[in-house]
Parts: sequence; C-alpha cells; structure tokens
Amino acid sequence: MPYYWCEFCNRDFTTENGLRNHTSAKHPYCDDCYEQFSTTSEYNDHCNIYHSEEEEDSEEEEDSEEEEWPSCSFCGRAFNSDRGVQQHVAAVHACSYCNALVRDVRRHEVEEHLTCVDCQRTFGRPNDLGKHRASGVHSARNVVCPFCHVRFRLPSAVAQHLENGKCPCKPNMTRQDVKDFFRDQERRHNLEGAVLVPRITDGRSAGSAVPQRATAASWNGFAYACCVCNRGFQGLSQLNAHLITHESRDWRCFRCRRTYNLLSALVQHWEQSACGSHANPATKLVGRQRMLGYPAHG
Ligand SMILES: [Zn+2]
Ligand SMILES: [Zn+2]
Ligand SMILES: [Zn+2]
Ligand SMILES: [Zn+2]
Ligand SMILES: [Zn+2]
Ligand SMILES: [Zn+2]
Ligand SMILES: [Zn+2]
Ligand SMILES: [Zn+2]
Repeated sequence: MPYYWCEFCNRDFTTENGLRNHTSAKHPYCDDCYEQFSTTSEYNDHCNIYHSEEEEDSEEEEDSEEEEWPSCSFCGRAFNSDRGVQQHVAAVHACSYCNALVRDVRRHEVEEHLTCVDCQRTFGRPNDLGKHRASGVHSARNVVCPFCHVRFRLPSAVAQHLENGKCPCKPNMTRQDVKDFFRDQERRHNLEGAVLVPRITDGRSAGSAVPQRATAASWNGFAYACCVCNRGFQGLSQLNAHLITHESRDWRCFRCRRTYNLLSALVQHWEQSACGSHANPATKLVGRQRMLGYPAHG
C-alpha cells in the first residue's frame, strides 16, 4: 500500500525517498521564497519575475537608445509608467504587517514577523513557528486510514477519524473498540504497557462504564442527561462530546508516562513533543506499517 503521495500530481510512492526524488525533479522549490511550484515552467516564470535582474537588463539593452523605462528598484522589472512601478511595488514588495518595502516579501514576513507562509499565522517566538512547521500541518497527506484508505496529513487525524466513528468502513467503531484493538496488538507483540496503562484484572473485567455514544434515550424531558454525572445538555452532540471527559486516561506515553483519555491525544503529544522523535515500543505498534502510519520522523 503506497504511503506517500505527491500533492501536485496525485502520484503514489512506496518510499519517502521516491517521493522526495520525484518532487525535486518535477516540482521545484524556490529556496529564496520558501515556495514550491507544481510545474517547472511555473517555477521558471517565478524566477524570471523575482530573481533575474541581469536577464531583464540585458533584454532592455537591445533598444538601449531610449532605455529610460521606469523600473522597479527592487526587482528591476521595467514598466511603461511611474504609476505602473508604484502599483507593482505596492502589490509585490510591500509587507502587509509593517508596510516596509522589501525585495522579497515572503522572506521578510518569515524572518521579521515569524509568519507561516502557508497559513499566514504569525508566531511570538521563532521556536513556535519552528514547532508549527514541524507539526506537519502543512505536509502532504501521507497517512492513510487502514480501513477506508482516506488520506490524512497527521496520524492523530486518523486516530480522531476512528475514535469519532467517522470512518465509513468502520462506522460503529468506538473509543473502547480502539482501546480493545490496541490491547490485543500489545498482547500479540508482547508489548503490554506500550501504549495503554496495563489493566489490573482482579476477577471482574474493568471494562469502561462510560457509554460510548449517547442516543435519544438520554432525553429526560428537559435535557440530554449524562448518565455518569447527570449534567444536562441541549444537544445530543454536546452530550457526546462531554462523554469523552469521563473516558478513563488509559493511553500512556511510553517515555514521559503522561496519560491521555484518547489515542488521538496521545498521538498528538508525540507529534508535538520530543517524545515522538524517539523510537520506542509504541512506535512498533502504531508504526508506519501498522495502524496509523506513525511516526513520520526521518
Ligand atoms: Zn508530482
Ligand atoms: Zn523565489
Ligand atoms: Zn519589483
Ligand atoms: Zn514587515
Ligand atoms: Zn502554517
Ligand atoms: Zn477510515
Ligand atoms: Zn458527565
Ligand atoms: Zn511523552
């Protein structure tokens, strides 16, 4: 099953290297502007506009008798009027955050305003922007749901897709089913405790008492009531979201031993912290060839 996917031309690749080679050959990246182009000709156009003063100068040279076309002092592009230059400068060289005029606005925004070029969010500290970029929110949709084969950018999104019962091929899957599945995987691979807190089985099964999905039967005449704490909600979906808070924190990070009530929360923790960049027994279970294609760290 291919796990790597080129966002530009929809081709599948079986290895990360295959995708990387393909991308660098077919979809050039401009190091100056942090921008990737879907075709070589788009990239060439881009370079002609933004990165080629000399070429444009030499073209003008041909009819150099009247070389007095006004031109942009940042990129050298020539216009037939000063107004044309002004419009170009305002459109291409003005920073929307501080109004500074610069040659390369994208670069200025990244370096001076810590702006993510993809979502235009700005960050308070360089570290935060770095984390945001590393989190994979803008990476290709390389993670595949093992059941419906829909692609996701992040392993935690696949976990959410399953835990929320949103997979069309596993519509009845519950949070408890996900736990049971992984308990079973742990047992089979002799990795008890890798992703779930070991269960103390003193006779009775400690199965979750938390209902996995509330139905219309929760209506008590006034509200949809939580059968654990009796709190009332006006909507069934609010009650269902609330039920998650009663879910026991059975998921545990092997490294830092923090616990989580959802697999997706644990996987998110790996995506956003150093714990995720270390190989550990959990990655054997939740690894690329396993359930969630995690982790993707190189
Ligand atoms: Zn491609
Ligand atoms: Zn560029
Ligand atoms: Zn210009
Ligand atoms: Zn600025
Ligand atoms: Zn972003
Ligand atoms: Zn699915
Ligand atoms: Zn409750
Ligand atoms: Zn951890």
